[in-house]
Amino acid sequence: VIAIQHLNKSFGQHEVLKDINFSVYKGEVVCIIGSSGSGKSTLLRCVNLLEKPTGGQIIYQAKNILDDNHNLTAYRTKLGMVFQQFNLFNNHTVLGNCTIGQMQVLKRTKAEAEEIAMHYLKVVGMENYIHARPRQLSGGQKQRVAIARALSMEPDVMLFDEPTSALDPEMVGEVLKVMKELAESGLTMLVVTHEMGFAKEVADRVVFMDKGVIAEEGNPEQIFNTPIQERTREFLKRTL
Ligand code: ATP
Ligand code: MG
Repeated sequence: VIAIQHLNKSFGQHEVLKDINFSVYKGEVVCIIGSSGSGKSTLLRCVNLLEKPTGGQIIYQAKNILDDNHNLTAYRTKLGMVFQQFNLFNNHTVLGNCTIGQMQVLKRTKAEAEEIAMHYLKVVGMENYIHARPRQLSGGQKQRVAIARALSMEPDVMLFDEPTSALDPEMVGEVLKVMKELAESGLTMLVVTHEMGFAKEVADRVVFMDKGVIAEEGNPEQIFNTPIQERTREFLKRTL
């Protein structure tokens, strides 16, 4: 669905991403792992253009979306994003959170938007909370609403940036369970995660980042059982 080619990103003199190349294919789950500061979030933020890459290409539907005159808004609506910190609208209800983008960006009617939102709120198991406000919800519930909100836009790819790392331990499982179900339903997902168990079990491919480069990439068995690079082995020794 998306191909990243020779992507670079610098903040001033600091080169945070160096010649990143990888693709995400339809229906695939790709997990990005790596130490803090290795550039994982910056990479996701470049993919959805929250950061402007310094160089390289992002190929989507056979076009480089970094070319001038490309319709960036149209591209962005094709990507769903779930952050560590939920980023829900606190002054809207659960249902409102899941309909507002659909109405404003996709120009769906309120009735259409609510029907679609209800569908995805059921998928994440939050259909009984539609009138609640975010502050009345637990972290795990908020994150499930954030997932439903992103799904309601019916994106081609879902991007997740450490969706469980701000949660209390007892709530991590419910969010991972929803993500696993989405993966099994065939959703295309790019997931930055510290949850090695999830990556092992759910990922089709694992990308290991170190100091702004992709140090190693492979299927979970290869990365976790027979990593080739010394730095991958070191990282796994520290985290497992
Ligand atoms: P973590 O696991 O802690 O979330 P990460 O792999 O997501 O780490 P990034 O957040 O992508 O790492 O950061 C990579 C590097 O880029 C860090 O050295 C960080 O300080 C730097 N960086 C990120 N955003 C900015 C910014 N807006 N301005 C300057 N430097 C930045
Ligand atoms: Mg990060």
